[in-house]
Amino acid sequence: MTDVARRGDRSPVPADWTYAPAPESTDIVRLQERYGLYVGGEWLETKERFTTIAPRDESPLAEVAQASKADVQNAVAAARDAFGTWSKLPGSERAKYLFRIARILAERSREFAVLESLNGGKPIKESRDVDLPLAAAHFFYYAGWADKLEYAFPNRTPKPLGVAGQIIPWNFPLLMLAWKIAPALAAGNTVVLKPAETTPLTALLFCDVVRQAELPPGVVNIVTGDGSTGAALVEAEVDKIAFTGSTDVGKAIARQLAGTGKKVTLELGGKAANIVFDDCALDQAVEGIVNGIYFNQGHVCCAGSRLFVQESIYEPVVEKLKKRMTTLRVGDPLDKNTDIGAINSRMQLDKITELVAAGEAEGAEIYQPPCRLPEKGYWFVPTVFTNVAQSYRIAQEEIFGPVLSVLTFRTPDEAVEKANNTPYGLSAGVWTEKGSRILWMAERLRAGVVWANTFNRFDPTSPFGGYKESGFGREGGLHGMEPYLDFE
Ligand code: NDP
Repeated sequence: MTDVARRGDRSPVPADWTYAPAPESTDIVRLQERYGLYVGGEWLETKERFTTIAPRDESPLAEVAQASKADVQNAVAAARDAFGTWSKLPGSERAKYLFRIARILAERSREFAVLESLNGGKPIKESRDVDLPLAAAHFFYYAGWADKLEYAFPNRTPKPLGVAGQIIPWNFPLLMLAWKIAPALAAGNTVVLKPAETTPLTALLFCDVVRQAELPPGVVNIVTGDGSTGAALVEAEVDKIAFTGSTDVGKAIARQLAGTGKKVTLELGGKAANIVFDDCALDQAVEGIVNGIYFNQGHVCCAGSRLFVQESIYEPVVEKLKKRMTTLRVGDPLDKNTDIGAINSRMQLDKITELVAAGEAEGAEIYQPPCRLPEKGYWFVPTVFTNVAQSYRIAQEEIFGPVLSVLTFRTPDEAVEKANNTPYGLSAGVWTEKGSRILWMAERLRAGVVWANTFNRFDPTSPFGGYKESGFGREGGLHGMEPYLDFE
């Protein structure tokens, strides 16, 4: 008799796939009690400060400086001073600094990943496997271009612009910093960067990387604060503004900068269509749907928040999706098994809650898998809405949370028409076995990025950016270098 037969039905059958806790230690992070502004290679004190917290339990992490208008102007002046020397360095010298930053980020990646999850709420496996490797890869990639600009833009004599003001959001704090700082520096500009109010800590830790890399003082300056600090940076004597954030603030910046001669790139909101045809590999598509909307709690501008399913496979897709959702683990961002971490802030949680209530009130059918949420902190259960009409707010507005709206279509033409029926145009996904259909769809979808049989894939060599109200200008690739250069 074999072992298995002997045990028969006495052997315990796992009732579910519950994992034992696997928390990542926070010992590697040394937080200071209080942080100043990093300007001209020095730490400067400010009159006002605010507390930054951990969204997983609302515990305070550190006191952070609130930069005033004068502080921002001071930082811009430091960047202007540094520009003279930095822009005249041979490209190969600038590249050395960028390679150094990339290497240090890779070496200190665990420390950064823990801090990112602590301050932002995202699962450690995402900060560890996505944010950090990509942030380092951006510095490596743009380091490679620093001494090749004349070949990259032949016969156009590329020149740096001067001082770039950069404003970033809270969903990918370090990665957005890398997207902004790496191309700007490679092109020979100096920068003043403002991180989001709720997630300043990895940008402040990055100042230590800048110091370690011995970057000349004033080339990178970090000013923390709230929206008023961002507004002060837009007004300051900078040569370019690079902004990632909400469409409303982006529009206000565009209005303010019109006619000033300052260059601007805007990466704004999205309401991406993820389109599933009946010939797709169904299980892969379901994984792609889950990754498209629940990655980073749905705090992703290119999240696949509108799912379009071909009518003939609507039922199996929804059934498989709901089943898969029951296996998602929501909880402590620092647990290595967590799939969905904490919502970034109280404000964002309120916004998600309000839009989900609107979805129910308008008549959509809600599904949330059973799941126990921690008592403290900001949490939202992964949610899917079916019976959604295109006019509902949940199908129109960016929710920026783990909430998916499912709609249907019959023909490819109908899919394109419905997918494009949005003021946004940042990204889209297509799931089908047919290569010809992928190309046909990609030609017609009004979105900056179209993923085929995958979703949320990023690479430093690939340009990213929007159409329509999702903004203009590209980040990543050579396209991402161009907005930091002037051409004669
Ligand atoms: P914001 O657009 O307000 O924030 C983005 C950045 O801009 C932050 O650093 C913010 O500072 C700064 N900022 C705020 N007001 C101004 C201003 N008047 N001038 C210059 N800079 C300013 O986005 P929120 O954080 O308020 O998020 C609101 C909504 O925006 C989200 O619910 C989501 O729908 C969308 N969003 C989209 C993002 C994207 O990547 N497309 C990213 C983030 C949000 P501070 O943090 O201090 O307010």
